[in-house]
Amino acid sequence: MPIQALLKKGSEDPYVIIAQQQLIALGYGLPRFGADGVLGDETLSAYGTFLVSQGLSSPTDERPKSITPAGAASLDMAFAALDHGGPTANIIDERANHPHAGRSVDSPYRPWSKITAVVLHQTATNIGEKPARWHSVPIHFCITRTGKVIQLYDLTEVCNHANGLNRRSVGIEIDGWYAGIEGQPKTLWQPKNLSTPRQPMDLPAVQANAAKATVQWIVDTVAANGGMLTHIHPHRQSSKDRQSDPGSLIWQTIGLWAQNTLGLSDGGAEFTVGNGRTIPQAWDGRYTDNRY
Ligand SMILES: [Zn+2]
Repeated sequence: MPIQALLKKGSEDPYVIIAQQQLIALGYGLPRFGADGVLGDETLSAYGTFLVSQGLSSPTDERPKSITPAGAASLDMAFAALDHGGPTANIIDERANHPHAGRSVDSPYRPWSKITAVVLHQTATNIGEKPARWHSVPIHFCITRTGKVIQLYDLTEVCNHANGLNRRSVGIEIDGWYAGIEGQPKTLWQPKNLSTPRQPMDLPAVQANAAKATVQWIVDTVAANGGMLTHIHPHRQSSKDRQSDPGSLIWQTIGLWAQNTLGLSDGGAEFTVGNGRTIPQAWDGRYTDNRY
């Protein structure tokens, strides 16, 4: 049970903000004050509507003046029954099976406070669905084409995936090969000695959604451990040899989404690390001076 005693109007008990977040998640909006941690009329009205929906109160009852332990318990149960949709349950944990050969030798571990960014990559190959096939890949997470999320490294391990961005970032590989610029097949990286050139792959919705959910999960997990994720970068920004990494399709679907929805930053028009390249206009229309 989340509380032992009544919480009266005006309470700033730590449970209040939890109740508010649960009410919002359950669809009982708090449009004026949001989850502000103070038990006011708006929250009590939403709580009252919730009690009616659960048959715990009648629509003609006046607005409750407090949250009761029984009401809080049923709010908790309703929230627990929600489909949270995140990747938490879907992460395939391969950390114990992976050799961790890509861990930084100079600085193998970092505190949560030093984790500030996500870097997006394309594999430029097709590694596939079997977790064991990813054991040679130095990356925190891989997203397979059927939307599996496989975790290979701890978030607090520094892993050699993105050159000068390694120490601050968590890496995500999107499996598949993608054009540097959609609609321009010449910007697709081609392995040598192929008799027939590759055609760029599409990005299945299940894969894109799994990648977004993973970014969200990383943001939440870093926050839960006292840190704050602020940036998302394409690998291109930290290596001139990664011109098409992860490509415009992945960047626009996941990178721009993370900026617009989660408030992350790509560092801006001029941002690069080491010998990296800026984000080109073909990936982000804001950057009119940046060439591919
Ligand atoms: Zn890369």
